[in-house]
Amino acid sequence: MELLRGALRTYAWGSRTTIAEFTGRPVPAAHPEAELWFGAHPADPAWLETEHGETSLLQAVTDDPEGQLGSVSRARFGDVLPFLVKVLAADEPLSLQAHPSAAQAVEGYLREEKLGIPVNSPVRNYRDTSHKPELLVALQTFEALAGFRQASRTTELLRALAVSDLDPFIELLSDQSDADGLRALFTTWITAPQPDIDVLVSAVIDGAIQYVSSGATEFVAEAKTVLELGERYPGDAGVLAALLLNRITLAPGEAIFLPAGNLHTYLRGFAVEVMANSDNVLRGGLTPKHVDVPELLRVLDFAPTAESQLRSPVRHEGLGLIYETPADEFAVAVLTIDGEHLGHEVDAPSSHEGPQILLCTEGSTTVHGKSGSLTLEHGMAAWVPADDGPIRLLAREPVKLFRATVGL
Ligand SMILES: [Zn+2]
Repeated sequence: MELLRGALRTYAWGSRTTIAEFTGRPVPAAHPEAELWFGAHPADPAWLETEHGETSLLQAVTDDPEGQLGSVSRARFGDVLPFLVKVLAADEPLSLQAHPSAAQAVEGYLREEKLGIPVNSPVRNYRDTSHKPELLVALQTFEALAGFRQASRTTELLRALAVSDLDPFIELLSDQSDADGLRALFTTWITAPQPDIDVLVSAVIDGAIQYVSSGATEFVAEAKTVLELGERYPGDAGVLAALLLNRITLAPGEAIFLPAGNLHTYLRGFAVEVMANSDNVLRGGLTPKHVDVPELLRVLDFAPTAESQLRSPVRHEGLGLIYETPADEFAVAVLTIDGEHLGHEVDAPSSHEGPQILLCTEGSTTVHGKSGSLTLEHGMAAWVPADDGPIRLLAREPVKLFRATVGL
């Protein structure tokens, strides 16, 4: 096993303090730091810190797929690491986005290849052939918009804003089944001519200001989100789309799982995200990046989803808190060592025969594998190849360790 250095991604929505503090570097950082990628995605692989210097994890996997990935993962996913771990720090909202299903990703990738759009082009939608189910676990309070809300509840919100310009849209929503109404309304807004959007966004912002200053509480988080998005992205149809999505606040340790076709945007917070090894994002707004509305509309799932359906259930198993997801590409657990376990070497629960990525988010611990051991401190990560597990842990102070493995 080796220490794993994450690939740092700087985007405007990132934080100058959070990731730098987490990894023990000086703050404020020179640029807003948005993501640390721990994986073997060709776009930005993480780095193994070996005694001979740094090697990319992608190279290590390519050179020795059997030793690094093991036979179970290879049989199902081929010679690539099927998951990607990201530490994500958002000071500002991310783009309004969704991810394709496996079939849509293959179709879209081949279509764009045929069109001759270079895979690293900013206008490319499909950068690989994988779907991108994602699990987001909050490290600190995390705010998100995800999944279409029940239409009846959205109607209540739109009525509460008391904006007469919204009346025809309320009618559109209530005239048909939930999914049809949401499809009609979202499609109307996201494809409306800019002058119409400008008028409607500004009316909705006025309504939200009135609502917040009236002291009403029922939809105050939703109204404030509209104001925040309107300020960052004036004239963006994404401000209207935000009215249709569940407004979710995660406490540390809580998680949401986003399946294919789920429309979402992260507003702010600090989290660990684990996903299939893919960079396939279809954006609909709230971003200076490439937006492709027709392609987004092709992949969106308009069936309303309750917030409780998005929240990932958990179960305890030994030292582990296991996040239960339907994904085959990854499984995620948080291993906690404290109390009577301190000072004793303990087995990590349900050791998996595939590869593991470990990320220490609190305290420090020594990790023992077949080939040796290393010590992880707060903000550090390790790569445990398949042929190095199962692992045992020794901690002298309370520790929290995220572990991502293959989900099979
Ligand atoms: Zn996403």
